[in-house]
Amino acid sequence: MLSYQHGYHAGNAADVHKHLILIATIQRMQQKASAIHYFDTHAGKGLYDLRDAQAQKTGEYRHGVQLVLEHREQLAKHPVWQHFFNELQRLNPYSRDQTISFYPGSPAWVAGLARPGDRHTVFELHPGEHEALTTHEQTGFVVYGDGLQGVVRMLPPKTPRLLTLIDPAYEDKSEYAAVADTVKNIMQRCRHASVLIWYPMLPAGRHETMLEQLQSQLQQPILRSELHYKEAEGERGMYGSGMLIVNPPWQIEAEIEQLMQPLLPAFEPVYQHPAMLQQSWLRTE
Ligand code: SAM
Repeated sequence: MLSYQHGYHAGNAADVHKHLILIATIQRMQQKASAIHYFDTHAGKGLYDLRDAQAQKTGEYRHGVQLVLEHREQLAKHPVWQHFFNELQRLNPYSRDQTISFYPGSPAWVAGLARPGDRHTVFELHPGEHEALTTHEQTGFVVYGDGLQGVVRMLPPKTPRLLTLIDPAYEDKSEYAAVADTVKNIMQRCRHASVLIWYPMLPAGRHETMLEQLQSQLQQPILRSELHYKEAEGERGMYGSGMLIVNPPWQIEAEIEQLMQPLLPAFEPVYQHPAMLQQSWLRTE
């Protein structure tokens, strides 16, 4: 079953949290010259038009990237935010006010940072999303297929280092266990791999089992970064965005704090709840 389409959610608060950590991780990894292979197991469309029917139906981007743009002046001093705003400017060159039409998905964020010797492979299983992805220039090498099986098949990479982003829709609850198994397989083939795993924070709390599985199965350090922007109430509805970083770059924890803390007060009037960033180590070495 593939009914999820990221166009309804592109540019929301969870995307901002996820993409900032993606950019910060890549910038830190690129402090060393050796080449990196970036894998993106669940690519989506690559670029989102926020004027289209999907984005307009939910309006989620207004409480994410649009909010960020309204606070641009106080954020833009940090190099990760600078990169974030520069990419938005490049994609939206004629917008003089603080509104944007185009928001990049993870393949485009990575393509905007990849260096000449780096490699970039992205997987997408939804036929329509895959077709849209192949029409954009900045996406890396596109594979039509299952990203969890696909990434494992391509390891070890030819480059000395690798970074994998795993960002499923979790439409089926079996995906949590499938993600944990895939990360275990990646780490068995490449002990030094860095892996970013996004998960939704939902009242059912299914992510907790995945976290326990990863904690017990891996030997590598794992940092957990969670943005809580809503009260966790009722049986449905996402109240936060979670990211795990396996083998995180040095000092990324403090950097995520610096990036996210100035933004947190902006969420409060929108969600009627004080937003919090909670970070902890699931494993140190
Ligand atoms: N990573 C994207 C970003 O940050 O812009 C968003 C990805 S979206 C949350 C998840 C995507 O994974 C959807 O486009 C969906 O069609 C795709 N998908 C679902 N199952 C998949 C699988 N097994 N392998 C590859 N892609 C899959």
